[in-house]
Amino acid sequence: MTSYDCDLAVIGAGLSGTALLATLQLQGWKGSALLVEAGRGPGGRAATRLRRDDPDWRLDHGAPVLHLSSCNDGPLADLLARLQGMGALVSCSGDAVCLGLEGVQPAGDGGDGFAAQGPRWRGFPSMASVSEAMLALAGDRVRQHFGQRVQGLERFAGGWELLGQQGEVIGRAPVLVLSGNLLAHGRSLAMLGVQNRPLRDAVPEGVDGVLDRALDHLDALTMEPRWNRMFELTPLGADATAWPRLIGFTSEARASWGLDRLVLQPQSNGRVGMVAHGFNPEVSVDPAWLAPWPSLAAALASATDLGVMRWGAARPLDHPLPAAWQWCPQVRLGFCGDWIEGPGFATAFGALRSAVDLAAQLLHSEQGLHPGAEA
Ligand SMILES: Cc1cc2nc3c(=O)[nH]c(=O)nc-3n(C[C@H](O)[C@H](O)[C@H](O)COP(=O)(O)OP(=O)(O)OC[C@H]3O[C@@H](n4cnc5c(N)ncnc54)[C@H](O)[C@@H]3O)c2cc1C
Repeated sequence: MTSYDCDLAVIGAGLSGTALLATLQLQGWKGSALLVEAGRGPGGRAATRLRRDDPDWRLDHGAPVLHLSSCNDGPLADLLARLQGMGALVSCSGDAVCLGLEGVQPAGDGGDGFAAQGPRWRGFPSMASVSEAMLALAGDRVRQHFGQRVQGLERFAGGWELLGQQGEVIGRAPVLVLSGNLLAHGRSLAMLGVQNRPLRDAVPEGVDGVLDRALDHLDALTMEPRWNRMFELTPLGADATAWPRLIGFTSEARASWGLDRLVLQPQSNGRVGMVAHGFNPEVSVDPAWLAPWPSLAAALASATDLGVMRWGAARPLDHPLPAAWQWCPQVRLGFCGDWIEGPGFATAFGALRSAVDLAAQLLHSEQGLHPGAEA
């Protein structure tokens, strides 16, 4: 008899991994799960940066807002309603402006690819709160490992073994979900200096036709690397309520300044966290970015640079993974994340929706999880 540590292993505690676990729980699944996340906390690309030297500091260094299309019923609507009820998800329409070379422009929330993707929401008090709340919904049958990167995968007696840096076994489960595509996407792995593709190594070609198609498809997927530079500003005698939280740019301003967006997050003691979202990690600070808000523009000159965040498997740009290949029944492997086909592809909504869709497949597929089975 095969011995597993749990019924389900999930790699990645971003929006999709945590939404999957929360949805399974809300749908009545009673099994046990292991969640392994490389980062120090939940959230993934919608996480919050903390500082060791400053316990009050919270900076949403990835997605500054979540674009969530409306859905009226079904498990996704239920999940979103729960998050709102818990106070972890709040509407944030109206706190964005569009800036051009001539100053603030009347319309839009910037010319980047996230504009016009649906109403804006954010985590409260910070972006990581959304994934934290989903983990709370998922309950205590989920064993959580943070700060642990899965480096390899092995198939054994019909199940999955997750391997750490030294080849040690982190956990074993009959069903595996990859919520990021880092163990499968060749170019993202190469960007991180990893030459092999753990998923392909674990399952040779010909074992699962769906997985073979999914991996071929992933090879062709283009990912847009994203770089965010973080700053601390200390404006003097300023009125924080007059500042926007999100500054988008016209296409001329984007081209001129090399920026996608600026995110401002007031902190305690009058300080402000600022994240410059861009495509050039070496971008030089320019007071023109904040010219309409003189106290912020003045503070920019003496801003403390808190470093750059590079997003490895960043934004999928094309060819979402067809939803039909999200679940590979032969090897009992599922994919979820914002790179799966469907509404909201490449946004937070796509990440959440894909997780809810996968949960349904796991609960209803013959090879999936068994609803109601006690751990
Ligand atoms: C700069 C930026 C701005 C954005 N702006 C917006 C926006 O305005 N609106 C919007 O809707 N969306 C936005 N997004 C996109 C949104 O953040 C993502 O769509 C969403 O967070 C993706 O969630 P996910 O769970 O699919 O993936 P991720 O958040 O990437 O989660 C995958 C997780 O898996 C972990 N992981 C991967 N491989 C391993 C491994 N081998 N071992 C352990 N852990 C592993 C990663 O650390 C990560 O935490 C933005 C993203 C970025 C980066």
